[in-house]
Amino acid sequence: PKPLKERLVKTKKGFFTKLKEVFTGKPIDDEMYEELEDLLIQSDLGFDMTLRVIEELEERVKKAKVKDSEEVYEILKQILREKISSENSALDIVDGKLNIILVVGVNGVGKTTSIGKIASKLKQKNKKVIIGAADTFRAAAIEQLEEWGKRTGVEVIKQSHGSDPGAVVFDTISTARSKKYDVAIIDTAGRLHNKSDLMKELEKINKIIIQQSGEDNFEKLLVIDSTTGQNGLQQAKLFNEIVDLSGVILTKFDGTAKGGIIFAISDELKKPIKYLGVGEGIEDLREFNADEFVNAIFD
Ligand code: GDP
Repeated sequence: PKPLKERLVKTKKGFFTKLKEVFTGKPIDDEMYEELEDLLIQSDLGFDMTLRVIEELEERVKKAKVKDSEEVYEILKQILREKISSENSALDIVDGKLNIILVVGVNGVGKTTSIGKIASKLKQKNKKVIIGAADTFRAAAIEQLEEWGKRTGVEVIKQSHGSDPGAVVFDTISTARSKKYDVAIIDTAGRLHNKSDLMKELEKINKIIIQQSGEDNFEKLLVIDSTTGQNGLQQAKLFNEIVDLSGVILTKFDGTAKGGIIFAISDELKKPIKYLGVGEGIEDLREFNADEFVNAIFD
C-alpha cells in the first residue's frame, strides 16, 4: 500500500500547509491568533473547539514565555495531537469469543464498503467472518454486501428487502455461534431523515445483540464521511446518544482539503478512531494510529 502521507496530500496541502504559513516569520500577536482562528474554523474544527484550542494555546505560550512563532506552531501541533485518543486504536478481536461488530452511520458515508474491507482484512488474518445485512430498507445495500461476500468468501446473512432488521441480527448471531465464527459484522440502515424511526431501530438492534451476546466481545462503530464537515460532528453526537459507540471509522480522508473534523470528533466523543479510509481499495482502509497520522500531515 501507498504510504499514508501520499494518501493525505489533499489534507496536507489544504489545511496543514496553510497552518504553517500562519506561523512563519510573523510576530506572536492578536493578528496571528485571529488568522489562526479563521483557518481552524474553515478547516472543520468547529467554532467551539477552535476557541478552546486557541485559549489553550495562548495560555501555554504565555506560560512558557515563547518568543518564536514557529515554536507556537509546535505547541499547537501538540495540543491537536492530545485531542486524538491513542487507546485501543486497532480493532479489538478477542480469540475464543464471538466478536460482534455493529456498524452504524448515515447512507452514503462508506459503511458497506468499510464492512467489506474489514471483512476481507479479517479473512486475511484467518478469522472466520460472517456479515449480517440488517439494512433491509435498501435493496442495494444487501446486494453490495453479497458482492463483497462473494469476493472475500464470507457468508452473508440476509432476508428479503423490507423485512425486520432485528430478525436478521438474531439470525446472524445464532448462525455465528452455532458455526463457531470469530467475527460477526452487522450492517444497519442509515436513514437520517427519519430520526425517530432510525433511533428506534438501532435501539432495538442494540438490545437484541446485548440479550444474545453474553460473554461475547461487542464493538459499536460509527462510520463518518470526512468530507461532510460539521454535519459529521452532528452525526457523531446523535449516534453516540443512541448506541454508546466504541469507536469511529473516518472515510474519504483522501478527498478532504480540511481534515479538522478528526480533531472535532475525537474531542467530542472521546472515543478512538479505529480506521481511516483513504481511498477505494481494500488496502486503503488503514488501521488508525494517531502518531502516524499527525506525523503524516504536519511537517
Ligand atoms: P454506504 O451507503 O454508507 O454503505 O456507502 P458505500 O459503502 O456504498 O460508499 C459510498 C461511496 O463512497 C462508494 O463509491 C465508495 O467506493 C466510496 N468510498 C468509501 N470509502 C471511501 C474512502 O475512504 N475514500 C474514497 N475516495 N471513497 C470511498
